[in-house]
Amino acid sequence: MHALPFDKPGRFYRGNLHTHSTYSDGVLEPAAVVEAYRARGYDFLALTEHFLTRYDFPIIDTRQWRTADFTTLIGAELHAPALENGAAWHILAVGLPLDFAPTAQDEDGPALAARAAAAGAFVGIAHPNWYALTLDDALSLGAAHAVEVYNTGCDVEVDRGYSWHITEMLLGRGKRLTAFATDDAHFRIADAFGGWVQVRAAALDPDALLAALKAGHFYSSQGPELHDVRVDGDRLHIACSPARAIIATGPGFSHAEVYGEALEACTLPLAPFAGRYCRVTVLDKQGKRAWTNPIWLD
Ligand SMILES: [Zn+2]
Ligand SMILES: [Zn+2]
Repeated sequence: MHALPFDKPGRFYRGNLHTHSTYSDGVLEPAAVVEAYRARGYDFLALTEHFLTRYDFPIIDTRQWRTADFTTLIGAELHAPALENGAAWHILAVGLPLDFAPTAQDEDGPALAARAAAAGAFVGIAHPNWYALTLDDALSLGAAHAVEVYNTGCDVEVDRGYSWHITEMLLGRGKRLTAFATDDAHFRIADAFGGWVQVRAAALDPDALLAALKAGHFYSSQGPELHDVRVDGDRLHIACSPARAIIATGPGFSHAEVYGEALEACTLPLAPFAGRYCRVTVLDKQGKRAWTNPIWLD
């Protein structure tokens, strides 16, 4: 059954789940990264350094920057051999313990992801389109909760920011993954503040945010706001910030949509997706998008 966040208690908190600092290959010190996001109006941030020998397996303790109106999640970007394309895995893990053990010599990506999930982390398949991750490799990461469907850095650096295609193939194989947007900011170029999650939680509390991420109680955005998405029988009701298109898409080429100038609400039929899933995209006149997680209708 679907897990839409809009009727859950609390409010939405805006956060970036994927960021680097000088503790791996980012340009800014951790404190400066945190301050940049706080000043931009974010509610939370995860610093996710490359968890590699050459950086001494950093997991940054960001608890010192938590305040009443800003919090942090502890995380890392995990790496292990080896993909079908020869590259090392990139696996996002948010909600790690500070003493998460370094990657073992013989630990592969699926084993590392499983260890991170067992340690309490929200595990994401990072930027699959950035390195042409294959479907077989993606299917092997059984511990993943989600796919990083938009990554600002991959978009502005190499025009490979969007990863919905492989996500839909995974959904088509029955994988109940959610979908999140991040920056993966390194601050070498303008790679910050381009994609984020809005997480529904009762309070701005790291444990509550992490539980909501795992439960799929969030949506992703590059700009537009989703105010409500609700299943009502064979209809889907959507309310959002002004949009020029509100689109539901599902398996194969199934779709339902409304176009306009400044749409703020619409109702779409669920018949094209009956017994399967759909997801909603809201597109604004600047070309920015917001996305729901897949909404399962069985
Ligand atoms: Zn990466
Ligand atoms: Zn990264």
